[in-house]
Amino acid sequence: MPRPTRARIDADALRHNYRRACDLAGGARVMAVVKADGYGHGLARVAGALAGDAPCFAVACLEEALVLRQTGLSQPVVLLEGVHEADDLKLCTEQGFEVVIHSPHQLDWLARMTRPPTVWLKVNTGMNRLGFAPAQLTTAVSRVRQQGAELTGLMTHFACADDDASASASTQTEVFRAAAGPWPGLRLSAGNSAAHFRNGQALFDWSRPGIMLYGASPMLGKTGPELGLQPAMILESEIIAVRDLAAGDAVGYGETWRAPAAGRMGVVCIGYGDGYPRHAGNGTPVAVRGERVPLIGRVSMDMLAVDLSRFPEVMPGDRVELWGPEVSVDEVAAAAGTISYQLLTGVTQRVPRCLL
Ligand SMILES: *Cc1c(COP(=O)(O)O)cnc(C)c1O
Repeated sequence: MPRPTRARIDADALRHNYRRACDLAGGARVMAVVKADGYGHGLARVAGALAGDAPCFAVACLEEALVLRQTGLSQPVVLLEGVHEADDLKLCTEQGFEVVIHSPHQLDWLARMTRPPTVWLKVNTGMNRLGFAPAQLTTAVSRVRQQGAELTGLMTHFACADDDASASASTQTEVFRAAAGPWPGLRLSAGNSAAHFRNGQALFDWSRPGIMLYGASPMLGKTGPELGLQPAMILESEIIAVRDLAAGDAVGYGETWRAPAAGRMGVVCIGYGDGYPRHAGNGTPVAVRGERVPLIGRVSMDMLAVDLSRFPEVMPGDRVELWGPEVSVDEVAAAAGTISYQLLTGVTQRVPRCLL
């Protein structure tokens, strides 16, 4: 008797969103960013869905890249954070992983290699997280080449591409262009998902969309479907209990919600132990049998409550969608004061993933 809580993954939606990224990318090629277990959708499953379309994949770390190879994927895989010790570089060469080098100590590791892997150099254009300052780039490029490593390109990352009101992505773009000027033969990569939706934003040779592939919005104040994206995860469960409420009855821990009038409520078999955000407040939309109803009271570990006063005919066993085509994950994220990235990557191991 399996618990009815599950995440269904829509491979067609993943492919639709990848093609949407390609359309928006113009002349740029598009590497599929599948880090953090394919943003919670299952790395192997996402790779399987996109293997026929994407010429290149990107992950955060070596462990994730190895999972991709185990699934039989033969495309190049880029390690966006590079490696964490010198010995890992050998494996990268053997497996055809392209390694981002973002710091001088990683150049020291490269210097010890006889057969170094293909390398991207990360350029810090203003995010101030990883990367070489433009002024350090000449030294970094010549150090990579002295080791006989193939330097395939330069990469940077935007801090505020999601905010239409910010000029920071334009400034970073100009800094990147100027920094890359001396090496016209190198490929350039800059754009995360948000950059695909900015008017006039250069995406250079390789764009790097992540969140948009999963159908969630990279842009502040917009949902994925509003941007022509299809949700790739349907998080669903069932009603497991219903009850009538008298005016003034409280629901859940802390008694944070009270019925304003006589009504009816239902209990859904999902909670923060499944990755549903505990900070989703009263009124967060939940779809019950295709109708949107408000969440009421505090989210518990294994269940949450919804107001069924408008739909008193709902019964135990009825289907509930927490996010998917009926309720966008972007809406739930906004209601919980977070972003879709955190919700999608936060669905816990207790929730089985299956293909649609
Ligand atoms: C995660 C990541 C991306 C993808 O970002 P999205 O906002 O999910 O599109 C691109 N580049 C780098 C370096 C990343 O770490």
